[in-house]
Amino acid sequence: MLEYLEKIKDVSLLTAYNANIDAIKYVNEEFISSLISLYPPEKIREKIEEYPRAINEPLDFIARLILSIKLGKPAEVPLKNEELNDWFNSFKYDEEKIGGQAGIVSNLMAALGLKRVIFYTPLISERLSRMFIDSNNLVYPIGNDELKLIKVKEVKKDKLTKINRIFEFKEGLAFKLGEEKIKAKASTRFIVASRPEALRMCFDNSVRKFLKELAKMVDCSFLSGFQGIKEEYSDGTTYIDYFERDREDIKTLKKEGVLTHLEFASIPNLKIREAVINYILREVDSVGMDETELANVLHSIGYEKLSDIILKESKIEDVIEGCKIILDEFKNLEVVQVHTLYYILMLTKEEVSLEELKNCLDFSTILAATKAKLGDIKKKEDLKVGLNVPYNEYKELFLKAYEEDNLKIVSVPSRYVKNPKSTVGLGDTVSSGAFVYYTSIKKRKSL
Ligand code: AMP
Repeated sequence: MLEYLEKIKDVSLLTAYNANIDAIKYVNEEFISSLISLYPPEKIREKIEEYPRAINEPLDFIARLILSIKLGKPAEVPLKNEELNDWFNSFKYDEEKIGGQAGIVSNLMAALGLKRVIFYTPLISERLSRMFIDSNNLVYPIGNDELKLIKVKEVKKDKLTKINRIFEFKEGLAFKLGEEKIKAKASTRFIVASRPEALRMCFDNSVRKFLKELAKMVDCSFLSGFQGIKEEYSDGTTYIDYFERDREDIKTLKKEGVLTHLEFASIPNLKIREAVINYILREVDSVGMDETELANVLHSIGYEKLSDIILKESKIEDVIEGCKIILDEFKNLEVVQVHTLYYILMLTKEEVSLEELKNCLDFSTILAATKAKLGDIKKKEDLKVGLNVPYNEYKELFLKAYEEDNLKIVSVPSRYVKNPKSTVGLGDTVSSGAFVYYTSIKKRKSL
């Protein structure tokens, strides 16, 4: 395990663009009853029937929360009316955590002792910066007349913060809506997602003019958060403006030799998903996805049949086939990585040893198991926990390392934790671990 950390310690990483606060509230009977008392029960019932897809007033929130509890189904609904922020802030939250892939990965990689992590998100308030670990290798770029890197923990730039409010409830939670008795079918969560108008997923001009300089300071870049781009903004700009701009910036990073990675993420909005595929996936060197995201990309580029088969049957052979298609279709890619509950898989065109790739994926399974067990990885020693979790019971099926048509294909079984403390951010952890380790292999090769 220590050898693995030894390998990544010389890597410098740039992460962008998304980080937010996850404010978590555990919903009990008292809280839900106090919400219900704000409106006559029949009004709430009418609203549930209406099924609001965005939150414009408290009633929308209350209706969708009750529905989520009643069905025992997780849901995420965007907050449309930003004036409601004060109302949501008036609740007492039980916990605040870092959210957003770039935020989660920055804390993780800084804790694992990377040489340097430069984290960027356009909006960063004091409240958000407090969510980051206090470490000299975790910095934020400020650009005005010159470029400065300051500890993320010390940044106090903006007033506004993106906060996702997460309302978690346990199976069996019971309350009354008028005369109707409601009971939670399962333990899950309801998320009020904030999409602040002022948050634009790109480098702002003050930092962008130093992008070349920033690029020279890092070996690789982990890019995520494109799912947060809106179709239109009040100033008349559209998603196309931001995708074009981000694509230009990825070109700049690549020109300076930075290995660029897209963390795909689940993107329900089809226009935005297509744009991520056409602007970002067509430009980066590496991509990380889960099985569903792979199926979605295959579907978008005309492989509907294979996409359906992957979704229905979850066979590793079909996933490998899908990855080969992606590598063939997107000639810019040198690495495709897919993670599922049972294995992590990597295909690459590069001349790197199969043994090193196996270590790379093994490292990422140790990270995932550690995070699943502990909820968070705070220091290097924590990884002992993950190392002691054995490969899952199907390990023979998922331990592969071979070469075919100039492609290296390697998979390693997951170290499956039965009752994970938390599953938030596990995908980002697996992907970033594999990507950073892969960067270290290439870096050693070029020395
Ligand atoms: P998910 O975010 O649920 O798609 O999971 C992302 C990755 O985390 C999976 O591909 C697995 O490699 C890993 N993972 C998920 N759940 C567990 C678990 N209970 N124990 C160990 N690894 C897990």
